[in-house]
Amino acid sequence: MLTIYSEDHRLHHGAAELYRGRLVPCFEMPARAEQVLDRVKAAGLGAVVAPDPLDRAALARVHAEDYLAFLETAWDEWQALGETGDALPYAWPATGLRRDVPPEHIDGKLGFYSIDAAVPITAGTWRAITSSAACALTGARQIVEGAASAFALCRPPGHHAGARAMGGFCYLNNAAIAAQYLRDNGAGRVAILDVDYHHGNGTQSIFYDRGDVFFASLHGDPAVEYPFFLGHADERGEGDGLGANRNFPLPWGTSGADYLSALDAALADIAAFAPDMVVVSLGVDTFAEDPISHFKLHGPDFAEIGRRVAGLGRRTLFVMEGGYAVADIGANVAHVLTGFAGA
Ligand SMILES: [Zn+2]
Repeated sequence: MLTIYSEDHRLHHGAAELYRGRLVPCFEMPARAEQVLDRVKAAGLGAVVAPDPLDRAALARVHAEDYLAFLETAWDEWQALGETGDALPYAWPATGLRRDVPPEHIDGKLGFYSIDAAVPITAGTWRAITSSAACALTGARQIVEGAASAFALCRPPGHHAGARAMGGFCYLNNAAIAAQYLRDNGAGRVAILDVDYHHGNGTQSIFYDRGDVFFASLHGDPAVEYPFFLGHADERGEGDGLGANRNFPLPWGTSGADYLSALDAALADIAAFAPDMVVVSLGVDTFAEDPISHFKLHGPDFAEIGRRVAGLGRRTLFVMEGGYAVADIGANVAHVLTGFAGA
């Protein structure tokens, strides 16, 4: 299994995020990707390659042009104010406020194009997020060209990013961009399986009214867990997408056995959809020791996730999402991938 990785991720290293009333060091940090790279190499999964040059048009298949322009220029606008620290939003167009008039000031734009304050923009953020998306696109190209599987070692992650909003450490939705690339290059139907601890709200919203991309997510119940405002079981898609969205909200403390039961149900839905190709949003923040999550999975459970996904018998692209127990993230990712490859 080829791994696609770019060192450009190091250019994005936010200093702090707003978390439970305090500014705390960002949980999403460069060491995460480097741990994963080390363990993937040690596991002997296959070659590690750099991504192809970015095709910006592929980003615009998923994200709005005004949002891409915002991401590309936000740092320069912020710096023009004399600011030297990270750009962070502090005001949002929540219920009752207008969303139809994009603000002109960068402080307004930061809120207009975000869902929370866990998305610092730094001098290197644009290059890091576009390189991350390029990793996903290169993995998708490998799949289109016939590879049975590939691993896009993306950082920053992507599944909380919507067509026009950043949030939860995510700026460009790498999995959605890859899925759209698969659709545009030969796959009639694509399924996205999101096994990150948090609901993939961005991915769901991007494909919610489409019947050609099935989205299934297992995650902490939004009644008690970020992103709080999406990810309930009654969200089944709309219009052409009715029936092509499936959420499995699970309680805090969910064990490996209970998680795998829900995974079997999600995989049965995906098998019934009969996708040509599969994208897995691979977060390992379901790990028992994860500092911001509340499931109880351990190493063997991750290997079992990989084995069961392989049971779909489809060409599969793994796209790196979350996982914040930095010392263990690499081993847990390697368990999933070797479980898949050895099945
Ligand atoms: Zn997560």
